Amino acid sequence: MAPIETHQYDYIVLGGGSGGSGSARRAAGWYGAKTLIVESGRSGGTCVNVGCVPKKMTWNFATINEALHIGQHYGYDIPPDVNINYRHFKNIRDSTIERLNGVYERNWGREGIDLVKGRASFVEPKVIEITLDGNKKARYTAPHILIATGGRPILPDIKGAKHGITSDGFFEIEELPPKLAVVGAGYIAVELAGVMGAVGVETHMFVRGDEFLRKFDPMIQKTMTERYEASGIQIHKRHSGFKEVQLLRDGKGKDKLLKLVNHDGSSIEVNEVLWAIGRQPEVEDLNLDVPGVKLNDHGHITVDEYQNTSVDGIYALGDVTGRAELTPVAIAAGRQLGNRVFGPPELNSSKLSYENIPTVVFSHPEVGTVGLTEPQARELYGDDQIKIYKTKFTAMYYDVMPAEEKKKNPTEFKLICAGPEEKVVGLHILGLGVGEMLQGFGVAIKMGATKRDFDSCVAIHPTSAEELVTLR
Ligand SMILES: Cc1cc2nc3c(=O)[nH]c(=O)nc-3n(C[C@H](O)[C@H](O)[C@H](O)COP(=O)(O)OP(=O)(O)OC[C@H]3O[C@@H](n4cnc5c(N)ncnc54)[C@H](O)[C@@H]3O)c2cc1C
Repeated sequence: MAPIETHQYDYIVLGGGSGGSGSARRAAGWYGAKTLIVESGRSGGTCVNVGCVPKKMTWNFATINEALHIGQHYGYDIPPDVNINYRHFKNIRDSTIERLNGVYERNWGREGIDLVKGRASFVEPKVIEITLDGNKKARYTAPHILIATGGRPILPDIKGAKHGITSDGFFEIEELPPKLAVVGAGYIAVELAGVMGAVGVETHMFVRGDEFLRKFDPMIQKTMTERYEASGIQIHKRHSGFKEVQLLRDGKGKDKLLKLVNHDGSSIEVNEVLWAIGRQPEVEDLNLDVPGVKLNDHGHITVDEYQNTSVDGIYALGDVTGRAELTPVAIAAGRQLGNRVFGPPELNSSKLSYENIPTVVFSHPEVGTVGLTEPQARELYGDDQIKIYKTKFTAMYYDVMPAEEKKKNPTEFKLICAGPEEKVVGLHILGLGVGEMLQGFGVAIKMGATKRDFDSCVAIHPTSAEELVTLR
């Protein structure tokens, strides 16, 4: 057999998702590094294909149904049972994603980045091999190799789990299931249960504790869990997980029927079950033992603050490292790595600061959070150093609704301040429009803003956000 030719690059990036693309574009587009992206799936990775983008589009779709409901209270003559054509929406969403796949590839092409479609694995410490179409193999080498292969959703280890779907499968749904079970309590579970609840799907959430979003501030956990319950989502608390899933009837939408069996033998029948119980890093196919790249106890690639792995010249970032698994984090880490490795000498210690990363949960209503939770702040600074400012109210938008319904639409803000100067170390907000509200406050907190700085900013009236600069 003829030896496989090895192609030489300056930079090889494994994974054309958020982090890989961000880093490759910085290296090639800004600094002219000869760069190769290897991508085994659809260009753009999780965010574009089965993450942020389709999720936010689905959230937008669901908020329209909520607006229709409120519209009746404003005097719009809207029939109570507006027909929802989910298949139409899915087709539009799919074509948006397809367009974005093309945008990614065109951007790479414009910046001189080569793209090879296939699954990469190491065959020598700095050589990777890819099986191309027709089973042909190709080899590539570079002094600098980035692993940005992301992660994938986990299925529980129970009989029949495969009859359900994960977040990947959620975006393949063509017909809404009339009754859906969502297992999990993290932000993906809350977001996907929220959109289904908002479009009238009978939604059941199964959570291990009493509340969901357990990594968030207790205020968020409590109010959001109550809000979901008030909106009609049934939350099965202290649930110990299912023992088995039986496929009673195969099909789409209402035609599919599953039986979820509990450990005590009781059961519930649903049209779909969505497993949102966590994600695992995509590392198995890479043969990381060949270069000797080390993993941590959770199976994520171990990196230092500069995204160096345990092997010189091999880097990792994004979800595969398990740290702040968010698209802008992966992109920013990738760009900083590009600056450090291929940029001018003044950038050779560039790295991403992982502190005070603002993030939004696209739940109903949205949640925004940046900095420490109250328990974290108390632990770090001590109780006597912490001052909490809080407010809870109903946004003016809901004023037209009867009192009972108004109550179901809370807005709640919490500011956590530390030390005598009252530096803002945590901000937690939920309510209408907080997703768009958070970014600016994120800048202020990143700059080290104090409560006085917040107070010195003149309020914008009438908004919900103004309450954050008038807290007493
Ligand atoms: C349902 C959902 C909703 C989300 N919503 C948000 C949100 O609203 N905001 C936000 O910031 N983040 C969100 N995220 C998280 C975000 O999508 C990820 O943090 C981000 O995509 C991580 O980027 P990455 O580059 O590390 O990996 P990815 O984007 O996953 O890219 C990795 C790429 O590597 C490829 N690959 C894997 N193995 C190999 C191999 N051996 N060879 C070649 N290619 C390989 C994969 O096909 C993939 O395209 C969401 C995630 C999910 C699942």
